[in-house]
Amino acid sequence: MLIMGPPGCGKGTQAERLSRRLGITGVSTGEVFRDHVKNQTPLGREVTGHLDAGDLVPDTLTNRVVRERLNQSDVKAGFLLDGYPRNTAQLAELDVILAASGQELDVALQLRVDDDELVRRLLHRATMTGRSDDTEDVIRHRLELYQQETAPVASAYLQRGILLSVDGLGSEDDIFGRLLAALRESFPEAMPDATTPG
Ligand code: AMP
Repeated sequence: MLIMGPPGCGKGTQAERLSRRLGITGVSTGEVFRDHVKNQTPLGREVTGHLDAGDLVPDTLTNRVVRERLNQSDVKAGFLLDGYPRNTAQLAELDVILAASGQELDVALQLRVDDDELVRRLLHRATMTGRSDDTEDVIRHRLELYQQETAPVASAYLQRGILLSVDGLGSEDDIFGRLLAALRESFPEAMPDATTPG
């Protein structure tokens, strides 16, 4: 499965909680890139400018990272992708990667939050984490990119009938509860007891 939503919608936090709760491996492309930047690897040096500008990392690099990650053994029993695919070319690549390993997506979760609330949250996050891409100009740019590049990905999954869209306003616990409830409704047998947040 995967989780998507505009920058600042809380998908990183929710992805971590969900993968813990469901016992599946979380794969965040943003985290992978930030780790490479921190460790000053060759890939880190290549992507740092894109991250700082709030631009998408080129598809060739991103797809390679995802392909290698999804070939590792800990994702065979399931995975939760966070932040990928970000455009329709990546969506097509993910189809190819999954088909090659005989897997398919069960569900694409989407968190919905309006832009003003996102800017407010991201500016707040900037004061807490010092992320280099959390300044107002870069935030607005990332939101625009989301609308242009990533919203069509949600539309595609909606057409495939696998999009589960959830209101992303409210406390972390509220949102987590909504995600679990949506999953439980669609996959009643597959879900562990999901009535309490955790
Ligand atoms: P995130 O943590 O998902 O907000 O990602 C942080 C940054 O990493 C993004 O603004 C992009 O620069 C880069 N990034 C993460 N995922 C992708 C992706 N699927 N395609 C291109 N760039 C990405």
